[in-house]
Amino acid sequence: MVDAVVVGAGPAGSAAALALARAGRSVILLERGPFPGSKNLYGGVVYARVLDGVIPRWWEEVPVQRWVVRRSTMVLTETQSLSVDMRTSSWGDAPYNGMTVYRADFDQWLAGHAVAAGANLVTSTVATGLIWDGSGRVVGVKTDRPDGNIRAQVVIACDGVNSFLAKEAGLLPQADAAHHTLGVKEVLSLPAETIDERFGLGPDEGLDIEMVGVTRGIPGGGFLYTNRDTVSLGVVVSLKGLADAKVRPEELIADLKAHPTIAPWLRGATLKEYGAHLIPEGGYDTMPPLTADGLMVAGDAAGMTLAAGIWLEGVNFAIGAGLAAGKAATDAIAAGDTTTAGLAGYRRALESNFVLKDHQRLRRAPGLVLSQRMQGPYPKLMCDVAERMFTVTNPEPKPGLVLLLRRAAKEQGVRWRDLVRDGIETIRVFR
Ligand SMILES: Cc1cc2nc3c(=O)[nH]c(=O)nc-3n(C[C@H](O)[C@H](O)[C@H](O)COP(=O)(O)OP(=O)(O)OC[C@H]3O[C@@H](n4cnc5c(N)ncnc54)[C@H](O)[C@@H]3O)c2cc1C
Repeated sequence: MVDAVVVGAGPAGSAAALALARAGRSVILLERGPFPGSKNLYGGVVYARVLDGVIPRWWEEVPVQRWVVRRSTMVLTETQSLSVDMRTSSWGDAPYNGMTVYRADFDQWLAGHAVAAGANLVTSTVATGLIWDGSGRVVGVKTDRPDGNIRAQVVIACDGVNSFLAKEAGLLPQADAAHHTLGVKEVLSLPAETIDERFGLGPDEGLDIEMVGVTRGIPGGGFLYTNRDTVSLGVVVSLKGLADAKVRPEELIADLKAHPTIAPWLRGATLKEYGAHLIPEGGYDTMPPLTADGLMVAGDAAGMTLAAGIWLEGVNFAIGAGLAAGKAATDAIAAGDTTTAGLAGYRRALESNFVLKDHQRLRRAPGLVLSQRMQGPYPKLMCDVAERMFTVTNPEPKPGLVLLLRRAAKEQGVRWRDLVRDGIETIRVFR
């Protein structure tokens, strides 16, 4: 019997194992892949300040691709693009704001810290189910190894978006297409100097672009991240929208690559990897209960990706939740009470830090961002207004902004009343 079994060596699992091992608890960290990160998609932006108090000066050792110094939000139509582009030198200095990483590197690095603290990492092993005692309490996990039952005082399920363990415990309902999106991504090779030149970056500097209007009206968006010598490009789309539109995700990526703004950036790039993964996008209102007797759930297994239009962040939330779960499990074990009541410190900790505070504050964002108007007419409306504003119409005098807005709204079939209402709602949701 060990103190804890953590299932899944993604960011949530490694953080949980790290917290437990540092507190002197015996912990097994199970990973189905041959190494942590092997089952994850290449490339993404990680915001690692959550590690400040855990791995001092983490930025001196983390396997970074580029430090993100440029962050764009881009609205696209088939022929237009409108960007809000933020560049700041301060993000290029320690302790840094965000970085692009390869998850295969990053996940191994974080798991390495858990192992260094004393966690026992067991790879190529699938947790196949929970072990229950006679009173309906979780007391361990079954694995696909012969004699692979592991008994523990606490099981922490960090097994990702489709958590079978959380489902077996009745915490997570069967996957609901309405609350999940599909992320599809290509990783495209380009020489590092070409990336520097085309995106206006220095050698270690990175760019993150989030896009809307690139998904043929299917609720979702696109993204582009620069790694050292690759670019990650993809879309995140509603599963139901994709099925209804009878469009294959590869077609959406092909649209993106052919867009007049994007195509010149990718000229000559070669495909290195393609992958697809589910994302829990329901937000705060669709999160499952986080504990049961002897069991805790953290990270994507508990629906903790923040997907609120201008943000797509999951790794930092997974780490924050994993650390809190590890700490609460440690306290509960010390107090001799690992029932739901004994583990309640976990939720309290998340409610007092960014993990649940951010999710709660932005709980209405997924609905707003994925709404029909935000996805359909608004991108075109915004691009048209900007295009007309910057088109010089001499000898006609310049039209005012309100007139341009009214004209574009009429053309896109958007009522003025709805436009104003959505503007107010946007301020409320993101305030
Ligand atoms: C296309 C795409 C782009 C994204 N971009 C970003 C981004 O830029 N920034 C960001 O912060 N987030 C991003 N995310 C979200 C991010 O990937 C997740 O929020 C994050 O990985 C969640 O971490 P986790 O540890 O909870 O789960 P995961 O990272 O999914 O880790 C789960 C681990 O558990 C293992 N596992 C699963 N089942 C078992 C089992 N039964 N037994 C043993 N092991 C098991 C898996 O192999 C895996 O290693 C993106 C997601 C997608 C799909």
